Amino acid sequence: MPTKKSVPAEEATEVKDIVAEEKAAPAPEQKAAPAAKKKAAPKKTAAKEVKEEVKTAEAAPEKKAAEKPNVKKTAAKKPAAKTKGAKPAEKKEVLEEVKPEAAEPVKEEAEVTEAVTEEVPAAEPVEEAPAYYEPELPQPRRSVAFIGSECYPFVKTGGLGDVMYALPKALIAQNCDVKVILPRYRCIPWKYQEKMVYRGEFYMDLCSDGRQFYVGIMEYVWDGVVYDFIDNEEFFSSGNPYTNLIDDIPKFCYFAKAALAALNYMNWVPDIIHCHDWQAALVPIYLRTLFANTQLASAKTMLTIHNLRFQGVYNIPTIKYWTGLPDNVFNIDVLKTGVEDANMMKGGLAYADMITTVSNTYAGEIQSEFYGEGLDAHLRHHSWKLRGIVNGIDTEMWNTATDPLLAENYDLSNVLRNKRANKKALQEQMGLVVDDSKFVIGLVSRLTNQKGLDLVNWILPELMDGNTQVVVLGTGDDFYENSFRYFENDYRGYVCSNIMYDEGRAHLIYAGADAFLVPSLFEPCGLTQLIAMRYGTVPIVRETGGLKDTVQPYNGYTNDGNGFTFDRYDAGLLLDAINRAKTLYFTDRWKWDEMVQRDMDKDVSWENSAKQYRWLYLELKP
Ligand code: ADP
Repeated sequence: MPTKKSVPAEEATEVKDIVAEEKAAPAPEQKAAPAAKKKAAPKKTAAKEVKEEVKTAEAAPEKKAAEKPNVKKTAAKKPAAKTKGAKPAEKKEVLEEVKPEAAEPVKEEAEVTEAVTEEVPAAEPVEEAPAYYEPELPQPRRSVAFIGSECYPFVKTGGLGDVMYALPKALIAQNCDVKVILPRYRCIPWKYQEKMVYRGEFYMDLCSDGRQFYVGIMEYVWDGVVYDFIDNEEFFSSGNPYTNLIDDIPKFCYFAKAALAALNYMNWVPDIIHCHDWQAALVPIYLRTLFANTQLASAKTMLTIHNLRFQGVYNIPTIKYWTGLPDNVFNIDVLKTGVEDANMMKGGLAYADMITTVSNTYAGEIQSEFYGEGLDAHLRHHSWKLRGIVNGIDTEMWNTATDPLLAENYDLSNVLRNKRANKKALQEQMGLVVDDSKFVIGLVSRLTNQKGLDLVNWILPELMDGNTQVVVLGTGDDFYENSFRYFENDYRGYVCSNIMYDEGRAHLIYAGADAFLVPSLFEPCGLTQLIAMRYGTVPIVRETGGLKDTVQPYNGYTNDGNGFTFDRYDAGLLLDAINRAKTLYFTDRWKWDEMVQRDMDKDVSWENSAKQYRWLYLELKP
């Protein structure tokens, strides 16, 4: 447990006092990159034109096999910069050092923030607007602090990392001012660490005995989004953002409080503090208790559930010690759960002004016993403030026309021809029989029981008919890792199991497979089916959570829909859905290809969802 830089209780002062006394260090001079422009979605008419072109075309010319995709790792190449922590005895000096350089620049920033959050009258029409002028930005502007435990490209273990990256960018296009607060893990690649600018440091009391901890703030501005990293070597120096609960509980108690203290320190009072998952779930409780008398208290809080399975549960004495929260929040309506445990997610849900989750269907499901993970009654009680907004994907990052990790780029106008080059490259690189006529099924996933892998294990031998290939990419539970290794060994040339985390391979699978499997037991939203559709790969999914909300089942009579679905968690039904997909693929390629084009044309961007978040922000802070 981290103790290295703790300060004895006698020297401790209240965090609010420190924050109130101190003024922030000067804002670093960073130039924000110009906001990336959104690519227009390809027109529907293009699909039909292509269809005809392909129908009459001879077999596409053989394309050169792709080079091996880049392998990206999250581990830093060089060791992270040393934390600028001071020893306990030096505490006062540190505070005094920070003071003098603090005042002016940040005051300016605070004024700017205030100015932009006021209502702005509608602008008069301008005749010749400069290229960057956006007359339709919705008013009024809203400022939002995102607080979460991971964010692409700094550190990502799953969908939360994607959302923390893409949603702020989309919100900026909706006239929001966004700061993202993250832990400064040592595993963040050095190319980002070295660009971070020091914004200040202070000491914060955390534990119930008043023990203090160093909080450093390192800032990085990119694409119009400000990322503030909370720096503390004791908590964030392990290789992975999540290790085990014994370390993770103190880590995220510290992080939640440090994030608020950092906002106070930087004198940045957002309209909304938007917290994500259990790692940031204590924020709403801190805000209404230990920070109730600070300037931050005017902010409203939103807590988004990305996955209810993970809740941050530990015994009450430990959480009481590490949070320093008052006794009255350890009651059964807030943090307490069972006989002697505290549940950080539960407490956050109780104190948040608004709860959201990442799809409408999941918002309903989690109020039932089966999906509620023990919090269904609590969620039913708070359902008046619970909403579902489906995730999108970053359509610039996931863009088949520009993706450098593909064997050949393509768009709606040439997908039917150029996608084949990716299929060939995929088969070659994965050691599969190289044959365009095989039906290739991709699966990119954490290998846990949430993802429906028991069903896949059950039916995989039945898929092996000589015409079907399966490519798996993922890491997770030993049981699933080993079972997929076993299948690869048993069905050489037809099954390939990549037991690893590899962005490059993921991109090639999305582009090279014909169909994509997501048979989850539960799925709050799911991003992989969205990426697959954007890459013209037909999803086969279970009708749960976001999968149900985003994949419209194929209807053979009307010839519409985006993929193949099944409802009950049943291996036979999964097999049936795959067989229906195969039947269409092998017997009516024309209709299959139309579905490929429909999928690529489907709007899976963040734009709509970002608008909905903005409306909720306005509901909280009109
Ligand atoms: P979850 O958050 O439950 O893991 P999501 O579908 O929301 O699932 O998001 C998964 C994200 O992680 C996707 O961007 C997917 O491409 C990526 N991903 C999952 N496993 C791997 C892997 N082994 N290698 C590369 N990317 C992966």
